[in-house]
Formats: sequence, C-alpha cells, structure tokens
Amino acid sequence: VLKANGGVMPEDDAEASGWQERVTPGRFDGRTIVVTGAASGIGRATASRIVREGGRVVAVDISAERLEEFAASAPEGQVVAVAADVTKQDDIDRVVAAAGGRIDGLANVAGVNDDFSPLAETSDAIWDRVIGINLTGVFKLTRAVLPGMVEAGRGSVVNVASEAGIRGNASGNAYTVSKHGVVGLTRSAAFMYGPQGIRVNAVAPGGVATGIPFPPHVSEAGQARLTPFQQQIPTIATAEQLAASITFLLSDDGVNINGAVLPSDGGWSVQ
Ligand code: NAD
Repeated sequence: VLKANGGVMPEDDAEASGWQERVTPGRFDGRTIVVTGAASGIGRATASRIVREGGRVVAVDISAERLEEFAASAPEGQVVAVAADVTKQDDIDRVVAAAGGRIDGLANVAGVNDDFSPLAETSDAIWDRVIGINLTGVFKLTRAVLPGMVEAGRGSVVNVASEAGIRGNASGNAYTVSKHGVVGLTRSAAFMYGPQGIRVNAVAPGGVATGIPFPPHVSEAGQARLTPFQQQIPTIATAEQLAASITFLLSDDGVNINGAVLPSDGGWSVQ
C-alpha cells in the first residue's frame, strides 16, 4: 500500500468497490499494439490486458530491466520488448522496426511527474524533461506510426492525459501544460486523420495507485502544496481500472469514438 508523505491515500478504494476485471477474449486477435510505459503501472496493466485479449504487444519503456521482467511473464511471441526512450528519434525508429509490419494501435502511456512546482519555481531542466517525455514523446511516436495507419486506412491511438490535462490543479506547471498539450494533440490528430479511418482519443486519469500522485520523496514545501490536493482526490483507481478505459477506446468497442477526452477519475472532473 502506498503511503503519502503526510497526505492521505485511501488504502483500498479499489478493493472496497468490489470491481473485477472482465477480459474480452479475442478482442485484440490479430492486432499489433504499441504500448509505451509498459514496464509499470498503467502501461503495464494495459499491455497485460491486450495480451490476455489476444493481441501482440510491442512493449516500450526506458526501464529495460522491468520491461524484460514483464515480457518474460507473457506467453511466447505475444510481447516484443523494446527498451527505448520516447524522446529519442532513433529509439522511436527502433520501436517501429521491431513491430515488423503493420501497427494497428498505439497507447501512449509513458509519462513522468517528479516535480510539483508552480510556474515561477519551474527550472528549465524540469520543463524540458516533463514536456519532452509527456508531450514531445507522444508527438514523435504518434508521428512515426501514422503513415502506416493511413496506408492501412485504419488505426487507433489512445493517449494518456490526466485530470491535469482538463483543468489546473496542484500537479505542477510543466506537468499540467504537458497534459493540456496531449489533449490538444489528440483533438488535432483526430480531426485531421478521422476521415482516413484513424481514431485518436485520450483517457484522463484522476488518482491511480501507482505512485505519481503520492510521491515518496517530496520537500516540506512541496508536501504542503500536495496535501490539500491529495485530499481532493475522490477515488484512487487501480492501474487495471485505467487499462479497462484505455483498451475500450483502443479496441473496436470504441468504433464510433474519435477525438474524445475520457475522464477516468471517479468523477473528480465534475466536482
Ligand atoms: P509509472 O511511473 O508507474 O509508469 C510510467 C512509465 O513510463 C514507467 O515505467 C517509466 O519507466 C516510463 N517512462 C518514463 N520516461 C520514459 C521515457 N522517456 N521513455 C519511455 N518510457 C518512459 O506511472 P503511471 O501512473 O502508470 O503513469 C502512466 C501515465 O498515466 C503517465 O502518462 C501519467 O502522467 C498518467 N497519469 C497517472 C496518474 C496517476 O495518478 N498515477 C494520474 C493522471 C495521469
């Protein structure tokens, strides 16, 4: 169980809800899906669900060790692990090559938030890192897979934004800007590529029990800003609950949905 530094983290919201994952066997049969951030948290849960629903996953993460561990747990041939940094063009090219043919779907899940600074306290280094991974990485990988999807006349992209992509909160300036950028990228790409059979949607998580909203190492000043924020989060979802939202949009179940930004946050965004 994750423990916030002075903040409160409801310990077993997900368990208390009695929710159970219901996989749809065969939903991704014959599909190759690229999932970033696949070594942990939401990305790993998404990749795992796609595999259990028959898909072949190109699993991408900067953390080679944790990625290999995930790939080793999957049935033979269903996961191609590519240790890659989504901010580097050479790495992106390796990801596309590793797919070895058509890419039917892309889930841009990789992201960081290790700094909760307001604008005046945001260093250039933090800005470049957070915007680089959370926004430029999504741009570069999506740009790399779109030509193949256009050629095929079909494809589905799901970008993981955030509650902080919908409105301002205490997530830090660079993070909030990066996630608003992801929402803009989603809508623009959906508009431009929808007529060519490609759907581009976003999921905006609220609190998820992966560590991001409850970082273990925060300065006293940082925690003072975080505590009221943490106390507002109505529910803490599991990574598997987010994977349910992401795979819904990614799969043919989302057939009529393009350009949507789906809050998956227990209703936080309407409070
Ligand atoms: P996580 O830290 O468990 O997973 C993020 C993964 O991204 C890690 O495995 C990490 O190694 C990988 N990654 C980081 N930099 C990378 C890079 N340059 N190239 C490739 N991979 C890289 O966190 P999570 O909670 O599962 O977060 C997944 C996504 O969900 C992120 O985009 C995050 O912003 C978003 N999100 C999370 C929450 C939450 O409460 N956890 C809320 C809103 C949005």
